[in-house]
Amino acid sequence: MSTSAIGSNTISFTDAVRFFRIVTNSGPCPMCSAVAWTIPVNQMNGPVSLVPSGNNDDSGSPVMELKLSCDVCGYFRSHNATIIRKWISENPADDEPTNG
Ligand SMILES: [Zn+2]
Repeated sequence: MSTSAIGSNTISFTDAVRFFRIVTNSGPCPMCSAVAWTIPVNQMNGPVSLVPSGNNDDSGSPVMELKLSCDVCGYFRSHNATIIRKWISENPADDEPTNG
């Protein structure tokens, strides 16, 4: 696998969940009104799966997207991974216990 350009840009599943819980309002799917969003991961407890948006940022790095899918109708919503990483770096995890 050639993920060299992506490796340093990973977002942990835990941080992604934290971001969506705190920053977004976890609204219903605009297509089917279900509230059943899935955050994609390649492996259990691994980082979330990001896909290239096709654009580069000011430094020339590829802009990645995190795409959540609706479990009911398959609708995708995309979030700019750069924004998520920025928020995570400014709001580090507080070592709060998880319910596993
Ligand atoms: Zn849906």
